[in-house]
Amino acid sequence: MEVRAKKFLGQHFLKDENIARQIAESLTGQTTHVLEIGPGMGVLTKYLHANESLDFHAIEIDSESVVYLHEHYPQLHVIEGDFLALNLAELFSEPFAVIGNFPYNISSQILFKVFDNRNQIPEVVGMFQKEVAERVAAKPGSKTYGILSVLLSAFYDIEYLFTVHEHVFNPPPKVKSAVIRLKRNAVTTLDCDEALFTRVVKIGFNQRRKTLRNALKQLGMGLDNVPEELLGKRAEQLSVAEFVTITNSLTPLNQ
Ligand code: SAH
Repeated sequence: MEVRAKKFLGQHFLKDENIARQIAESLTGQTTHVLEIGPGMGVLTKYLHANESLDFHAIEIDSESVVYLHEHYPQLHVIEGDFLALNLAELFSEPFAVIGNFPYNISSQILFKVFDNRNQIPEVVGMFQKEVAERVAAKPGSKTYGILSVLLSAFYDIEYLFTVHEHVFNPPPKVKSAVIRLKRNAVTTLDCDEALFTRVVKIGFNQRRKTLRNALKQLGMGLDNVPEELLGKRAEQLSVAEFVTITNSLTPLNQ
């Protein structure tokens, strides 16, 4: 296979068929509607496309890859475009799973888009740079626990599935990779103002070395009702439930 990888598109094509099959088989069938992000030369695509019970679509930004996919998989529904600009509600009226060996340069943006569309996306199986996969799957108290770990684990059960060595890609990336799975949990609402919750999480981690008492000053809200015990901690020590408690204890200033 001739490879004309375009670095700025995060193109690292998977060469190992076993790993490709393992990724495709990691979907647990939460829905039959599936969207692959960045199929490239179709190494994952062929396993998904072969499954006739799936309503399968792919979105790929690189026109040369799209031409290649049309030639090799004439039946495939491939959209040429940017996943980040895609109107998901227009594409599927039903909930759909997201899968891919993702372009690593936009990993966080893909995950924030999943978070924003969580009620439409019951499952995600994806390969990320290993550090990103670890961060998403991290638990409170670990050094890698961060904004995406809290936001996503509020609504998804997250599993670190397996690590992938750089030599199975062409060209090999500089970093190791890992596959994770996110399955939507039963939580429909967090019993708090969710927009404020997101701000609290972001502000807390933006100054992750500070205690929350100091980091949350930036919010411009009253902290008097927030339990002392939580204010003395740092963001990386808090569970989702504790962030909810903080959010519900904030008071408007000047009242
Ligand atoms: N899935 C393939 C390719 C992975 S490389 C494989 O495993 O071999 C990442 C792919 O994402 C590339 O094909 C790249 O062109 C595509 N891509 C990069 N940015 C994208 C975006 N914003 N939307 C959709 N596809 C994108």
